[in-house]
Amino acid sequence: MTYALKVEGLDKSFGASTILRHVTFAVEAGSTTAIVGPSGCGKTTLLRLIAGFEKPDAGTIALAGRVVAGGGWAPAHRRSVGYVAQDGALFPHATVGANVGFGLPRRARTAPRIAELLEMVSLDPSYAARRPDELSGGQQQRVALARALAREPELMLLDEPFSALDAGLRANTRRIVADVLAKAAITTILVTHDQPEALSFADRVAVMSTGCLAQIGTPREIYSTPIDVPTAQFIGDAVVMSAHVDRGRAHCALGDVTVASNGVHGNARIMLRPEQIELTSDGAGITGTVVDVEFLGSEMLLGIRLDNADGVVSERVTVRRFGATALTPGDRVGIRVLGKAVAYEL
Ligand code: ATP
Repeated sequence: MTYALKVEGLDKSFGASTILRHVTFAVEAGSTTAIVGPSGCGKTTLLRLIAGFEKPDAGTIALAGRVVAGGGWAPAHRRSVGYVAQDGALFPHATVGANVGFGLPRRARTAPRIAELLEMVSLDPSYAARRPDELSGGQQQRVALARALAREPELMLLDEPFSALDAGLRANTRRIVADVLAKAAITTILVTHDQPEALSFADRVAVMSTGCLAQIGTPREIYSTPIDVPTAQFIGDAVVMSAHVDRGRAHCALGDVTVASNGVHGNARIMLRPEQIELTSDGAGITGTVVDVEFLGSEMLLGIRLDNADGVVSERVTVRRFGATALTPGDRVGIRVLGKAVAYEL
């Protein structure tokens, strides 16, 4: 397998604060990886180390097999890495053309090449004469990407480049950017706060939690078999409840639920995604009462308080329902579980 990037045992502290601890991962050439994690967990620091803006305290970084940090040092301009920051960081007083041209070697700084780069990011070449403040936020981000593309990097680092854009523009800009990078076959790492963005943009998702990589895998793996409960809850809505697991079945407030085999047995917690819980109208099996209804446009989130056989604890679960529903608090419903739950040791 060809790796565009290999990070091994990376440590980084600022003063007395440890920011990254033994971060190890590899990125396949031509792939797209999204790094997600709570604010302050060290995502930007990791990108800045890969870009060469900071030095690690320990560990190595290799780009396409060449060690650039730890046992060797290559500064940022010798790394063939593009970097697009959250705010684009364009030069405000320079024209768009000059901003894009900044990424080009002097002899290649020509109007046709700049026009070509603007077209790559779906901007009309006439924009070259404008100043950044005469563009929308999404257009500015595309100029920042064109400037980074001008260097023909082997690895593109995108640090929350869509976060300042509103929802519609964000989805559109993201699609354009993903398309440009895929066409140019540039290995890409995207840092984002937005879990759906990570799941839709990337081939692989890396979840960070306070300086460590909690899990790395395909979006499907991360969503359906998260490594632990915090990762499950970070990456999407999760229904978590106590259970007793025995031979592939979890006995819990939702009845007997099949669990994915992962060696967990005995008293445990199980996790289901809200879309795995279906409402039935036959009233058989598990029943409950609607306690709240949250309208989210294309879908509704229903809070259901389950009936409990022993009357002691009554668990609340969240059910996702697409389209409109006539259900209101107080309505009685039946419940069925689809697919498998994931079990975690207590
Ligand atoms: P966010 O999602 O909010 O952007 P992040 O996961 O990207 O956060 P970082 O920007 O990597 O997090 O910051 C991680 C921690 O390191 C923070 O507590 C931050 O204050 C600290 N930090 C980052 N850069 C420096 C620096 N140059 N000097 C001191 N502390 C720093």
